[in-house]
Amino acid sequence: MAVYRGKYILDGLGTISPEMEKNLDIAYEICMSYRPQFPCEMCGKCCHQPNIVIKPEEFERIASAAGVDIAQFIDGYLIRMPDGRFLLSKTSPCVFLGKDNKCTIWKDRPQICDDFPYAVSMFMSRVYLALVNPDADILDLISYMDGSWPCTRIIRSTIREKIEERRKDVAARCLC
Ligand code: SF4
Ligand code: SF4
Repeated sequence: MAVYRGKYILDGLGTISPEMEKNLDIAYEICMSYRPQFPCEMCGKCCHQPNIVIKPEEFERIASAAGVDIAQFIDGYLIRMPDGRFLLSKTSPCVFLGKDNKCTIWKDRPQICDDFPYAVSMFMSRVYLALVNPDADILDLISYMDGSWPCTRIIRSTIREKIEERRKDVAARCLC
Protein backbone atom coordinates (compact mmCIF):
# COMPACT_ATOMS: atom_id res chain seq x y z
CA MET A 1 0.00 0.00 0.00
CA ALA A 2 1.43 3.36 -1.03
CA VAL A 3 0.38 6.66 0.47
CA TYR A 4 0.44 9.72 -1.74
CA ARG A 5 0.54 13.19 -0.16
CA GLY A 6 -0.08 11.59 3.22
CA LYS A 7 -3.73 11.08 2.43
CA TYR A 8 -4.38 9.08 -0.71
CA ILE A 9 -4.04 5.38 -0.03
CA LEU A 10 -3.31 3.55 -3.25
CA ASP A 11 -4.06 -0.11 -2.66
CA GLY A 12 -1.99 -2.64 -4.54
CA LEU A 13 1.08 -0.41 -4.80
CA GLY A 14 4.20 -0.91 -2.77
CA THR A 15 6.09 2.15 -3.95
CA ILE A 16 5.56 5.22 -6.10
CA SER A 17 8.19 5.88 -8.76
CA PRO A 18 9.20 9.48 -9.61
CA GLU A 19 7.46 9.16 -12.98
CA MET A 20 4.30 7.91 -11.35
CA GLU A 21 4.43 10.74 -8.87
CA LYS A 22 4.36 13.29 -11.70
CA ASN A 23 1.20 11.70 -13.05
CA LEU A 24 -0.30 11.48 -9.58
CA ASP A 25 0.34 15.20 -9.24
CA ILE A 26 -1.69 15.80 -12.38
CA ALA A 27 -4.49 13.54 -11.08
CA TYR A 28 -4.37 15.47 -7.82
CA GLU A 29 -4.73 18.79 -9.64
CA ILE A 30 -7.74 17.45 -11.52
CA CYS A 31 -9.38 16.27 -8.28
CA MET A 32 -8.70 19.51 -6.46
CA SER A 33 -10.03 21.57 -9.37
CA TYR A 34 -13.49 20.61 -8.10
CA ARG A 35 -12.95 22.00 -4.64
CA PRO A 36 -13.83 25.68 -5.23
CA GLN A 37 -17.10 24.89 -6.96
CA PHE A 38 -18.09 21.79 -5.08
CA PRO A 39 -21.87 21.62 -4.70
CA CYS A 40 -22.67 19.65 -1.55
CA GLU A 41 -26.45 19.52 -1.40
CA MET A 42 -26.43 18.10 2.13
CA CYS A 43 -28.46 15.07 1.10
CA GLY A 44 -26.75 13.01 3.83
CA LYS A 45 -26.04 10.01 1.61
CA CYS A 46 -22.28 9.95 2.21
CA CYS A 47 -23.04 10.09 5.94
CA HIS A 48 -24.43 6.55 5.70
CA GLN A 49 -21.12 5.13 4.46
CA PRO A 50 -18.64 3.22 6.62
CA ASN A 51 -14.91 3.93 6.74
CA ILE A 52 -14.95 7.52 7.94
CA VAL A 53 -11.30 8.01 8.75
CA ILE A 54 -10.39 10.33 11.62
CA LYS A 55 -6.79 11.50 11.79
CA PRO A 56 -5.16 11.87 15.22
CA GLU A 57 -4.70 15.60 14.65
CA GLU A 58 -8.50 15.84 14.33
CA PHE A 59 -9.34 14.14 17.63
CA GLU A 60 -9.36 17.30 19.73
CA ARG A 61 -11.45 19.34 17.31
CA ILE A 62 -14.07 16.66 16.75
CA ALA A 63 -14.21 15.60 20.40
CA SER A 64 -14.85 19.20 21.35
CA ALA A 65 -17.59 19.50 18.73
CA ALA A 66 -19.12 16.29 20.11
CA GLY A 67 -19.01 17.68 23.65
CA VAL A 68 -16.71 14.98 25.07
CA ASP A 69 -13.08 14.87 26.09
CA ILE A 70 -10.45 13.18 23.94
CA ALA A 71 -10.36 9.98 26.02
CA GLN A 72 -14.14 9.64 25.81
CA PHE A 73 -13.98 10.33 22.10
CA ILE A 74 -11.35 7.66 21.45
CA ASP A 75 -13.13 5.06 23.61
CA GLY A 76 -16.66 5.84 22.56
CA TYR A 77 -16.49 6.94 18.94
CA LEU A 78 -13.48 5.34 17.30
CA ILE A 79 -12.15 1.95 16.33
CA ARG A 80 -8.50 1.37 15.56
CA MET A 81 -7.83 -0.64 12.41
CA PRO A 82 -4.98 -3.17 12.08
CA ASP A 83 -3.18 -0.72 9.77
CA GLY A 84 -3.21 1.94 12.52
CA ARG A 85 -5.94 4.16 11.11
CA PHE A 86 -8.89 5.28 13.24
CA LEU A 87 -12.43 5.01 11.90
CA LEU A 88 -15.65 6.37 13.32
CA SER A 89 -17.33 3.39 14.94
CA LYS A 90 -20.87 4.73 14.87
CA THR A 91 -21.85 4.94 11.22
CA SER A 92 -24.74 4.04 8.94
CA PRO A 93 -25.77 6.63 9.62
CA CYS A 94 -22.97 8.59 11.19
CA VAL A 95 -23.57 9.44 14.83
CA PHE A 96 -23.23 13.12 13.91
CA LEU A 97 -25.98 13.11 11.29
CA GLY A 98 -28.97 15.10 12.49
CA LYS A 99 -32.62 14.20 12.00
CA ASP A 100 -32.81 16.84 9.26
CA ASN A 101 -30.06 14.95 7.35
CA LYS A 102 -27.55 17.68 8.10
CA CYS A 103 -24.24 17.25 9.87
CA THR A 104 -24.41 18.47 13.46
CA ILE A 105 -20.67 19.19 13.54
CA TRP A 106 -20.40 20.61 10.00
CA LYS A 107 -17.86 23.30 10.83
CA ASP A 108 -15.65 20.72 12.58
CA ARG A 109 -16.42 17.68 10.44
CA PRO A 110 -13.60 15.26 9.57
CA GLN A 111 -11.35 16.16 6.67
CA ILE A 112 -12.52 13.11 4.75
CA CYS A 113 -16.09 14.45 4.85
CA ASP A 114 -14.88 17.77 3.50
CA ASP A 115 -12.94 15.95 0.77
CA PHE A 116 -15.76 13.67 -0.34
CA PRO A 117 -16.26 12.78 -3.18
CA TYR A 118 -13.77 14.70 -5.33
CA ALA A 119 -10.67 14.32 -3.17
CA VAL A 120 -10.81 10.85 -1.68
CA SER A 121 -8.64 7.87 -2.61
CA MET A 122 -11.38 6.04 -4.51
CA PHE A 123 -11.81 8.92 -6.96
CA MET A 124 -8.16 9.98 -7.05
CA SER A 125 -6.99 6.47 -7.99
CA ARG A 126 -9.51 6.24 -10.82
CA VAL A 127 -8.54 9.65 -12.19
CA TYR A 128 -4.94 8.50 -12.17
CA LEU A 129 -5.82 5.27 -13.99
CA ALA A 130 -7.77 7.14 -16.67
CA LEU A 131 -4.95 9.62 -17.07
CA VAL A 132 -2.29 7.00 -17.79
CA ASN A 133 -4.50 4.62 -19.81
CA PRO A 134 -5.76 6.42 -22.93
CA ASP A 135 -8.20 3.59 -23.63
CA ALA A 136 -9.86 3.86 -20.25
CA ASP A 137 -13.13 5.72 -19.93
CA ILE A 138 -13.26 7.62 -16.68
CA LEU A 139 -17.06 7.42 -16.63
CA ASP A 140 -16.83 3.62 -16.56
CA LEU A 141 -14.26 3.81 -13.80
CA ILE A 142 -16.46 6.06 -11.69
CA SER A 143 -19.74 4.30 -12.43
CA TYR A 144 -20.33 4.22 -8.69
CA MET A 145 -20.97 7.97 -8.97
CA ASP A 146 -24.50 7.55 -10.24
CA GLY A 147 -27.47 9.89 -10.13
CA SER A 148 -28.17 9.03 -6.51
CA TRP A 149 -25.16 11.17 -5.50
CA PRO A 150 -26.25 14.74 -6.25
CA CYS A 151 -22.79 16.19 -5.74
CA THR A 152 -21.26 14.01 -8.47
CA ARG A 153 -23.29 15.59 -11.26
CA ILE A 154 -20.67 18.22 -11.96
CA ILE A 155 -17.90 15.62 -11.93
CA ARG A 156 -19.71 13.35 -14.37
CA SER A 157 -20.35 16.21 -16.77
CA THR A 158 -16.81 17.59 -16.83
CA ILE A 159 -14.31 14.90 -15.91
CA ARG A 160 -13.83 13.42 -19.40
CA GLU A 161 -12.74 16.77 -20.81
CA LYS A 162 -10.44 17.47 -17.91
CA ILE A 163 -8.71 14.11 -18.27
CA GLU A 164 -8.47 14.39 -22.05
CA GLU A 165 -6.80 17.77 -21.66
CA ARG A 166 -4.25 16.55 -19.13
CA ARG A 167 -3.47 13.36 -21.06
CA LYS A 168 -1.63 15.67 -23.43
CA ASP A 169 0.75 16.60 -20.62
CA VAL A 170 1.38 12.94 -19.84
CA ALA A 171 1.95 12.12 -23.52
CA ALA A 172 4.27 15.13 -24.02
CA ARG A 173 6.47 13.98 -21.16
CA CYS A 174 6.68 10.49 -22.66
CA LEU A 175 7.96 11.96 -25.95
CA CYS A 176 10.78 13.96 -24.32
S1 SF4 B 1 -23.47 12.67 -0.94
FE1 SF4 B 1 -22.62 14.56 -1.77
S2 SF4 B 1 -24.34 16.04 -1.74
FE2 SF4 B 1 -24.85 14.36 -0.35
S3 SF4 B 1 -24.12 15.08 1.65
FE3 SF4 B 1 -22.50 13.82 0.74
S4 SF4 B 1 -21.14 15.30 -0.26
FE4 SF4 B 1 -23.09 16.35 0.12
S1 SF4 C 1 -19.21 13.86 10.43
FE1 SF4 C 1 -20.91 14.97 9.52
S2 SF4 C 1 -20.41 15.11 7.32
FE2 SF4 C 1 -19.12 13.49 8.23
S3 SF4 C 1 -20.25 11.57 7.91
FE3 SF4 C 1 -20.78 12.36 9.95
S4 SF4 C 1 -22.65 13.57 9.65
FE4 SF4 C 1 -21.70 13.27 7.65
